[in-house]
Order: sequence, then structure tokens, then C-alpha cells
Amino acid sequence: MASTKTVVLRAFKFTLAPTAAQEQQLLRWCGNARLAFNYALASKRAAHTEWRAQVDALVTSGVKEPVARKRVTGPKTPTKPAVYKAFIAERGDTREGVDGVCPWAHEINTHVFQSAFIDADRAWNNWLDSFKGTRKGRRVGYPRFKKRGRARDAFRLHHTVTKPTIRFSTHRRLRLPTFGEVRLHDSARTLVRQIDRGTALVQSVTVSRAGHRWYASVLCKVEMDLPSCPTRSQQAAGTVGIDFGVKALAALSKPLVPDRPESTLLPNPRHLAKAAHRLKRAQQTLSRRQKGSARREKARRRVARLHHEVAVRRQSALHQITKRLTTRFATIAVEDLHVSGMTRSARGTMDKPGRKVRQKAGLNRAILDASMAEARRQITYKTSWYGSRLAVLDRWWPSSKTCSACGWQNPSLTLADRVFECAQCGLTLDRDLNAARNIEQHATQVASGTGETQNARGEPVRLPRPRAEKQGSTKREDTGPPGPVPPRRSNPPTPPNPRQGQAKLF
Ligand SMILES: [Zn+2]
Repeated sequence: MASTKTVVLRAFKFTLAPTAAQEQQLLRWCGNARLAFNYALASKRAAHTEWRAQVDALVTSGVKEPVARKRVTGPKTPTKPAVYKAFIAERGDTREGVDGVCPWAHEINTHVFQSAFIDADRAWNNWLDSFKGTRKGRRVGYPRFKKRGRARDAFRLHHTVTKPTIRFSTHRRLRLPTFGEVRLHDSARTLVRQIDRGTALVQSVTVSRAGHRWYASVLCKVEMDLPSCPTRSQQAAGTVGIDFGVKALAALSKPLVPDRPESTLLPNPRHLAKAAHRLKRAQQTLSRRQKGSARREKARRRVARLHHEVAVRRQSALHQITKRLTTRFATIAVEDLHVSGMTRSARGTMDKPGRKVRQKAGLNRAILDASMAEARRQITYKTSWYGSRLAVLDRWWPSSKTCSACGWQNPSLTLADRVFECAQCGLTLDRDLNAARNIEQHATQVASGTGETQNARGEPVRLPRPRAEKQGSTKREDTGPPGPVPPRRSNPPTPPNPRQGQAKLF
């Protein structure tokens, strides 16, 4: 099998086992990362407010808004270099008895501050680009200050690669500059060997807290042997369509394990339901505790811990599935993510704010979107590791309302209907399995260029032959016989998406 040596960025995540004193220290560093982010954001906001005031002054004096915007030149929004310079001037120093915004800064690695300044730059630009409409995806709001207890506890350290200060002193100990050595729960042997052999190079480390755990995510440049096309067995298995759900974790158009037909419906791990029970109890306990009490703090920690454990289990189940999928099939077809429609519908406007926005958006929807996004992220990089590829289909294509055998559509299908029943050919199938089969068929049609779908005005649009990401993967003779003749689709729901009627392949 042909393969190419490629350098990729890869994160290795380790669970830390800090001592009690180290944990306090870690929390302190996270606090300083927050402080630095807020410092940078405050200076950006100040400059922006000043600029806005100058524009407004011109507008009230009779100048048109676009002209005024152009005429006001300063003050410029400071970026990292300027922010860092101002910070050095203002921070103070306890060693010299000079008070300032952060006089203890010398006790903390400078990268904690610098990476927070970079993060603030990114948050600012994301908002600006989103505002201007040059950024894809969900609208990004005006950057907010990070609040203790609200924002994720995390900090990031970089180092010069020629003088590595972030390194493993043993398989079980990670050395962080200025901080010292932290013990790991798990062994870093595989990574240490790669570093020793020169096939991995540490770039940075992000330390974060989730629930009761501390993690170190070590970002490395890794030399990998990436296959340039699917293996024979992957090609023989062909395309698989996946429908992610809440009830079942995922429904597949083909069994995940070849000789186990029941492996088309992947159940949500049972311990999730068990945890849900414990979580409910823990939350009840928390609500009974008096505000500000030590026992309330203890109950709060227990709830956070249970939440985190559920997340970890779901994540590990997803990892197992995505690895199996990407190693077994040549093409993995999924539906595109829910863009931002549902949450926005309840949000309302400034004058007429929506009510119970979060509740309406739905917990299930949130879980589903989160795990779909994560599954998609995993499938994306794993397909590149294992020579397979990912096909993403338009979300507004009615995959659950269409019969996977004859193409008949049931427009009145609701979320409560767990079984799809076809009025035309009599097919009776689990709703999610039917959707998965449709996704597979659609992906195969799109890939072979025979698919036909409709654009917003209901006119048939021939899908362009998709760009093949990897050489050799355009060979489609092994994906089995083409699906039935594509049925004429009725008008899909109102398109909130300009990419309506298209399928991206990458
Ligand atoms: Zn049918």
C-alpha cells in the first residue's frame, strides 16, 4: 500500500497526578492566565469604545456613518506585542516592592501570560470577522471577560524547540518550565520513545482542569506514515452511512462488525444511564445545601465530577467507534452539523427577547450536536491516518423522511415516530437505520456523479463530481452496485444555508 511520510500536529493527552500543593499552584497559574486574558481584553475594549465615541461625535456633527468610520483613524486596537509591552510596564514587582496589576508575575512562566494575550487576539478577531461576515459558522459574540468558576481552568506553555523546557524526565513525569515536575497517572512511554527517536517534537503543552482531574495536552509535531488510499478490505467494505442520535449513539447502514448484523445500531453505553441516576441524586443533594457552606462546595464538586465522568465515557466510546469506522470502511458518510438554527429560533431579538431559550434548545439536541461535532472531528483526522475519507452531506436533505428502498417521502414524520413505515413499498425499519441507509446511498450517488438533488428554488442541480482529497480514492468500482435511481425529491425545508443542495467531500 502506498503511503507518504507526513508531519502532522498531534496532541497527546495525559492525566496528571499533582500533589495537593501542586494543585494549588496549578489553580494559581490558571488564575493568572485568566487575569492576562482579561487584561488584554480590557485594553482592546477601551480602544474600541474610544474609537466608537469619536465616530459617534462625527456622526452627530452631520458626517455620514461610513465616512466617519473612515475618517477616524485611531486609536488602534492593541494586539499581543503592544499588550505585552504595556503589561510589563504596569505589572509591578514584589521583589522590588513595586505594586502593579500583577506584581507576582515573576513567579509564573511568561508563556502563561503570552498565550493568554494570543487567545485574546483570537477571540477579538473571531468576533470582528463574524461581525463583518467573513467568518463561517455560528455567530461569535462580543468577547467576554473570563470569570473564576465559570471559565475553563487552563493555561498554555510554549518553548523554543532547540532548548526544550517542556520535557519528560521519566515516562511518568512531565517537566513544566518554572513549575517543576508533575507526575502522570498514565505512562508516556510511547511518546517518549518517539521523542527519543526524533519522530516527535514537543511544541507546547496545555494544562487544564475538568471535574476532579487535571490534564496535560502535549502538542507535538509527529512524523507519520499516512496511507494515500484505502486498503483492499476498506474498498471491499465500501461506503457506510451514519446517523448520530441520542437514544442510540449511532445507526449505521452496514454492521460495524462484519458477522454481527446487530452492530448497525450502536447503543449508548449503559453506564451513561446509571450515571444519570447518580447525577440526579447528587444534584438534589446540592440543591438542599446552604449557599456558601463547605458541604455545598463538596456537593458541587461531586456533581462536577459525575458530569466529567459521563463526558469521559462518552468520549472513549466515540473513540472506539470512530477508529473502527475509519479502519473498516473506505468512505464514511455523515450528515452535516446542525448549524445554529434551533438555538437561534428561541432567542428572539433585543426588543423582544425569547423566553426559556436554553430549555427550548433542548438538552438532547445539545448532547447530540456536541457528540456529532466530536465524532466528526475524530473521523476527520482518523480518515487521514487510515487512508479512508469522510463525506459530509447537506443537513437539509430529508434523510429521515425518505424511504431508503423506494424513495417515497413521508412529510408528516415526527421525532416521536421511532419506526419508518413506507406507504408505497411497505418497508418497515428503525427510523435511524433508514436514515443511515439514505445517507450511504446519497453519498454513493454524489461520489459517482449520478446523484441529483434540488436547490432552493426546486430546480434540479447536478452535483459536481467531488474533488478527491487523496489520490487513488476516486476508484469507486468497489463500492458495490449503485443505489436505485435517485428519486425526485420534494422541496426540502426553507434553506438557511447558502450551500443548500451541495455536498462537500473532504
Ligand atoms: Zn418505500
